[in-house]
Amino acid sequence: MKYATLNNGIQMPMLGFGVYQLEDSAECISTIKLALAAGYRSIDTASIYRNEVPVGKALKESGIPRADIFLTTKVWNDAQKAGNEMAALDKSLAALDTEYVDLYLIHWPCKGHYQDSWLNMERIYKSGKARAVGVSNFHTHHLDDIKKTWSVVPAVNQFEMHPRLAQQPLIAYCKAQGIVPQSWGPLGGSKSGDFREGLLQNETLTTIAAKYNKTTAQIILRWNIELGVIAIPKSTNPTRIRENIDIFDFELTQDEVLAISALNKDERLGPDPDSYPFQ
Ligand code: NAD
Repeated sequence: MKYATLNNGIQMPMLGFGVYQLEDSAECISTIKLALAAGYRSIDTASIYRNEVPVGKALKESGIPRADIFLTTKVWNDAQKAGNEMAALDKSLAALDTEYVDLYLIHWPCKGHYQDSWLNMERIYKSGKARAVGVSNFHTHHLDDIKKTWSVVPAVNQFEMHPRLAQQPLIAYCKAQGIVPQSWGPLGGSKSGDFREGLLQNETLTTIAAKYNKTTAQIILRWNIELGVIAIPKSTNPTRIRENIDIFDFELTQDEVLAISALNKDERLGPDPDSYPFQ
């Protein structure tokens, strides 16, 4: 495992496990336990995923000390609009059955609210209930807006990123500000099978994968690591769960990294944070 050092000195695993759409309690618990057994030590959930209770149970049942796990959750838009971020976090902590999270993120920027929301996230950080705070789905202009009043720089920005949406300018911006970039949907997401299939069968990726005797999913995840981007792939398949973390025994060349980034088509899987319908 490689680690990113966040801007407050905290170490965060470069590869974590996403649990979006793992809503069935028993499946969520058994899948997370599989992931932990495979070596994952970072779990990415959100209040809107409605699985914080089973996530907490899985962590307890695993027997792994809480301090050895990096736990992320996110504040949903309703709490952001009401300015209730602290109460929302308390609810998440109770559901997760833990006294703190390692990272608390604003899930999406709600127009007219995310600036104040960031100030509340700073209060949360100072309360110690989150070891780090950050944002998700923020474009550079959202970051520019909160920068006007921030006294705590977001530790992480989590956004959609995969070879068809390589996000080079946003990654560069984040790094220049000391914000660690994190990708969601790195393998093409869990909703659209066609999108994912097209991505994973791309010829540039299959050629590189053959060279290293790896799968194209592993090549994409390693591309994230080479770019300094934290990835949090999700799977319920035991073989793929193990496959996705088995990316630390090889390195891509700079040319290969550039070739994968060049697959960019600015093609989104999810909604644009400027115009998403659920804000
Ligand atoms: P993903 O790119 O991780 O894709 C997951 C899907 O890819 C799986 O359902 C599976 O069908 C397939 N897959 C997984 N491993 C594979 C492999 N080795 N080979 C072939 N197919 C494989 O997409 P995701 O789950 O949408 O994103 C990952 C995580 O990011 C989520 O679980 C969640 O934690 C987070 N997320 C955050 C946001 C946000 O708004 N901040 C949005 C979406 C997801």
